[in-house]
Formats: sequence, C-alpha cells, structure tokens
Amino acid sequence: MMHDSNCIFCKIISGQISSKVIYQTDLSIVLQDIAPQAPIHYLIIPKVHIQDFVACTDPKLILDLMSIPPILAQQLGQDAAFKLSTNNGYAAGQRVFHLHFHFMSGKSFSE
Ligand code: AMP
Ligand code: ZN
Repeated sequence: MMHDSNCIFCKIISGQISSKVIYQTDLSIVLQDIAPQAPIHYLIIPKVHIQDFVACTDPKLILDLMSIPPILAQQLGQDAAFKLSTNNGYAAGQRVFHLHFHFMSGKSFSE
C-alpha cells in the first residue's frame, strides 16, 4: 500500500494535516515530533506507507533513510551527538504504524 488514508503520517505527507517539516528528500521526510522526548526530537519517515522496519526491504529506500541522520547532525553543529531508534511492533512501543526513526539530540540529552 503506497498510502493509507487512516494513517496520520500519510495525512501529513499528502498535506491533509500540517506539520513542521525539518528536511526532505524525494523518498523521505523529517518532521518535528509533536511530543518531544528530547530537546531535539525529529521523526525520519519514508513517504510511502510502510508499516514498520521489518517491512522495509527496499535497499534504495533504506539507504535514503539512513543517509539522513548525518545530515541532520551536521546541520545541528559540529560533532552533534544523537540517538536513532525505531519501535518495531506494538510490544516495542510502536503506536504509529508507518515506519519512522526517532532522531533525538540536544544539549544534556544523555545526562
Ligand atoms: P512510536 O511510539 O514509535 O510509534 O512513535 C510515534 C511518535 O509519533 C511519537 O513520538 C509521537 O509523539 C509522534 N507523533 C504522533 N502524531 C504526530 C504528529 N501529528 N506530528 C508529529 N509527531 C507525531
Ligand atoms: Zn502511512
């Protein structure tokens, strides 16, 4: 499924719901998390609807998604530290079933 009309991230990607876009490529988009758990909390999201990390098998898309964190870190400043994570499945804490990587950073985040 390319697009799920019930999916909050698909609604944001299609422009039905507004959100703060931090960065994007042809295949991926980076949003500000609406309930940040760190001073900087972004979500790195494929533009196509893919349920979770296990369902993401396209090497071109994986490369696109995984090339983004270093770009965000560089934009934040030299040697910016960050945490990158994904919750794969409900039991792991996933609540939005459209693949996303949490990118967390900011001063004193890991203290
Ligand atoms: P997860 O629990 O891994 O599925 O993470 C879902 C994340 O999406 C949470 O950190 C939410 O705060 C975030 N979120 C939910 N709705 C929105 C939204 N409309 N815009 C931005 N982030 C959102
Ligand atoms: Zn979706």
